[in-house]
Amino acid sequence: MAFKTIYFNEDVCTGCNTCVDVCMCDKLAPNPEQGKPPVELYPDECWFCGCCVTHCPQGEKRAIEFITPFPMRGAFKM
Ligand code: SF4
Ligand code: SF4
Repeated sequence: MAFKTIYFNEDVCTGCNTCVDVCMCDKLAPNPEQGKPPVELYPDECWFCGCCVTHCPQGEKRAIEFITPFPMRGAFKM
C-alpha cells in the first residue's frame, strides 16, 4: 500500500527543485513545466526524513508539507 507523505502548495512553490536535490531516496523529480512543483515519482519509497521540508527556501510559507502516515505515528501511554 502506497502512502502519500508529501504535499505541494502550487501557489507558493517556485519550482526551485531544492527538495529534489536533497531527497536521499530520489523519489522526487523536476516538473517538466518550469516553475511548477516537483513530481513525486515513488510515493511509497519515502524515508520520512523531512529533509525536503527543512531545506525548502519557501519553508515558512509551506510550499511543501510532510505528513507522517497515520499507521506510522507512534504513541506511548504511561
Ligand atoms: S517545494 Fe520548496 S524546495 Fe521544493 S521546488 Fe517548491 S519551493 Fe523549491
Ligand atoms: S521526507 Fe525525505 S525521503 Fe521523503 S521525500 Fe522528503 S527528503 Fe525525500
